[in-house]
Amino acid sequence: MKDNYRFGTKAVHIGCEPDYTGAVSPPIYMVSTFKQPDAYMSGKYIYSRSLNPTRERLEKSIAALEEAKYALAFSSGMAAIDAVLRILNPEEHIIALDNLYGGTFRILNKVYNRYNIKVSYVDLRNPEIIDMYIKPETRMVYIETPSNPLLKIVDIKRISEIAHQHNLLVVVDNTFATPYNQRPLTLGADIVIHSLTKYLAGHSDVIGGAVALNDDELYEKIMFIRSSTGGVLSPFDSWLTLRGIRTLHVRMEKHNYNAMKIAEYLNEHEKVEKVYYPGLKEHPGHEIARKQMITPKGEPGFGGMVSFKIRGGIKETVRFLESFKVILLAVSLGGVESLIHAPITGIYRHMPREEVEKMGITENFIRFSVGIEDVEDLIEDLEQALKRI
Ligand SMILES: *Cc1c(COP(=O)(O)O)cnc(C)c1O
Repeated sequence: MKDNYRFGTKAVHIGCEPDYTGAVSPPIYMVSTFKQPDAYMSGKYIYSRSLNPTRERLEKSIAALEEAKYALAFSSGMAAIDAVLRILNPEEHIIALDNLYGGTFRILNKVYNRYNIKVSYVDLRNPEIIDMYIKPETRMVYIETPSNPLLKIVDIKRISEIAHQHNLLVVVDNTFATPYNQRPLTLGADIVIHSLTKYLAGHSDVIGGAVALNDDELYEKIMFIRSSTGGVLSPFDSWLTLRGIRTLHVRMEKHNYNAMKIAEYLNEHEKVEKVYYPGLKEHPGHEIARKQMITPKGEPGFGGMVSFKIRGGIKETVRFLESFKVILLAVSLGGVESLIHAPITGIYRHMPREEVEKMGITENFIRFSVGIEDVEDLIEDLEQALKRI
């Protein structure tokens, strides 16, 4: 399989090449250990914590889609994030976007703080601001774009230029955009992180994570960390994710389309106070998003996540969220089915309420993972739920 095929062809075929049997669906190597050709253990595969052929197929696929030299699959998005943070030494410093997935805040503030890793949370929508926060011990710039759940857009190219002048590593959590809409390594980032749980697996049936990168030394380092700490993706979950990826391009087209329609609908609704979607002209990151969120067809792809504030407080939010007939009330995102919830009652319930509200995540703030159902049914469902508040 050539590497220079187009995105959809790569999604369908890379990692799924027939083996010696001719099977057009890849085999699952449900195995922990491999018989060795000699006493020096010189086989390619030795033990599945380090290398497993099914996981290796998935990694080949992710690397191809992210235009990366390497990818590594982990047992969750958090295990992938943990492995990347473990390249830091105690006392080192991170400059991070001030809006990140709640679990990322949690691991930084409650786990890595104990190893004296320091974090400055900064509004990196202005990349030039980095200079103000750099210290001798700064090692890494960590961003999400679009961010979870505020959908802030950060200019990956500009951030990378500035960070690299200071020898800082640029890490981009690309979970929301997916490689279909955005390929951060091609814009200058050093490391891409994914929660495979979301769009890549795409069917709400897997917990998994991945790291994609080009640098040989960094790859060896993260591979060593993964083999040592053991957060690997199982052969079966690797297979499920690989199967999910085979339709990524088709699903993302529909997610992009549906989310744009929903954002426009909500934007006009009298019971909606504000809509956060980078595809809307009034979104402060719209111009940058139009440049860096480009599908392989060359068109802008703003993703399937829409956040919004309804008019009201917790009472209205509860009534709204409990009225849906098609859309499911659940955390997580990126599956074929639409999921909705209020982040303040999700992962942010572990954080002090004032801090969360200060970030802009209020009681009436809703995060909507727009699925690939018929958009008319989703709009009808939203319409009847908005009538109840
Ligand atoms: C869900 C998510 C994670 C964590 O991934 P898990 O697979 O749940 O461990 C990390 N980053 C973002 C942006 C996410 O949405």
